[in-house]
Amino acid sequence: MNDLATPKVGFVSLGCPKALTDSELILTQLSAEGYTTSKTFAGADLVIVNTCGFIDDAVKESLDTIGEALAENGKVIVTGCLGAKQAEGGENLVRSIHPKVLAVTGPHATQEVMDAVHAALPKPHDPFLDLVPAAGIKLTPKHYAYLKISEGCNHRCSFCIIPSMRGDLVSRPVGDVLKEARALFEGGVKELLVVSQDTSAYGVDTKYRMGFFDGKPVKTRMLDLVRELGELAKPYGAWVRLHYVYPYPHVDELLPLMAEGLVLPYLDVPFQHSHPEVLKRMKRPASGEKNLDRLQAWRAACPELVVRSTFIAGFPGETEAEFQHLLDFVQEAGIDRAGCFAYSPVTGATANELPGALPDAVREERRARFMAVAEKVSTERLARRVGQELQVLIDSAPAMGKKGGVGRSFADAPEIDGTVRLLPPQKASKQLKVGEFTRARVVAAEGHDLVAMPV
Ligand code: SF4
Repeated sequence: MNDLATPKVGFVSLGCPKALTDSELILTQLSAEGYTTSKTFAGADLVIVNTCGFIDDAVKESLDTIGEALAENGKVIVTGCLGAKQAEGGENLVRSIHPKVLAVTGPHATQEVMDAVHAALPKPHDPFLDLVPAAGIKLTPKHYAYLKISEGCNHRCSFCIIPSMRGDLVSRPVGDVLKEARALFEGGVKELLVVSQDTSAYGVDTKYRMGFFDGKPVKTRMLDLVRELGELAKPYGAWVRLHYVYPYPHVDELLPLMAEGLVLPYLDVPFQHSHPEVLKRMKRPASGEKNLDRLQAWRAACPELVVRSTFIAGFPGETEAEFQHLLDFVQEAGIDRAGCFAYSPVTGATANELPGALPDAVREERRARFMAVAEKVSTERLARRVGQELQVLIDSAPAMGKKGGVGRSFADAPEIDGTVRLLPPQKASKQLKVGEFTRARVVAAEGHDLVAMPV
């Protein structure tokens, strides 16, 4: 150990926001037990790598990182999605490539990781429990945080291997989720991003069990949870944003909460496609729903609604007519923010067995065509905001905003959507502070972003 009083752990967090919340739980526990973190592999007593195993590029990045940590430090614990993957011979994939790692766990395994840490690096005598903030350790900036409400997924989409890595849906007790949310707001979080694999399914595994928060009964159900989160956020003026919401009929009930301003009028709905036959081949949840009608009804209930979605172009067997259906859908549905992947087979996914695989060039060409249409829709919708006054959460503002700054409106989730570029305020007394809100009048739209003058 490099310093007897402070055992140091190096930590690398790869992957999606759900993996990030796993990292935060482990870091919180490490801190609670008196471990400190090291910014370098060489300066640490051991290294934990939280991996991603979703697409082949992510697998490569994770394996390379483990290799680097082994070379520079030697003591490495691996956790996360890749840790649950098997090699072709049936043995653990990570161990088969890096046999020297100390331990390998799957995702969502704080206790197993801590057991492995204790075995390699005994915990210090006097844990600095009081030094751990109530909200835990967060890897995001202080003013926004991801809140994971469940783990795993009951669906079996043919292109996805997440359920084989993360298991079936397990919803966190509603009281625990709300306690964590309150601690986050108390700790200064101004934007709470609700994440899971399937947010609309929250509570299905518990049969919507009645839970308790501050002695008050609350059902383990999306609508009830979202309403409570909105109420908790109110006194802090904080935002609640929902991700990974599938278009089941009961999602309709959320729209009034958005219209009354309790939660942001923003939905991240991973549609993936629009054509019923493609959705069937993808084995998508809610594939039988009339998504266009549903979206139109949502917009009627809450005209401010912004919809973000992801799509896959060139899925096996996708005909030109089916692809055209997708292009029409994006335009008719007015999808505000769209991402698109060219279909790429993931090792272990059942879609690999489907007939009608398309050549790479066709998949790429369709992705490019899709993005051209989606960007046109997106910029047209964005242009309507010019002249409006919006509330903007400030992400960066050098020199107290004297030279302007960058923030986001309700329509922009961090990392994935656009931003609002704030011009230097005209009033000399006006300051822009990171993590605070400002009102700003939109003066222009530039690509995916807006330009606004603080007022
Ligand atoms: S809903 Fe489908 S894509 Fe999403 S995690 Fe579950 S199986 Fe994977």
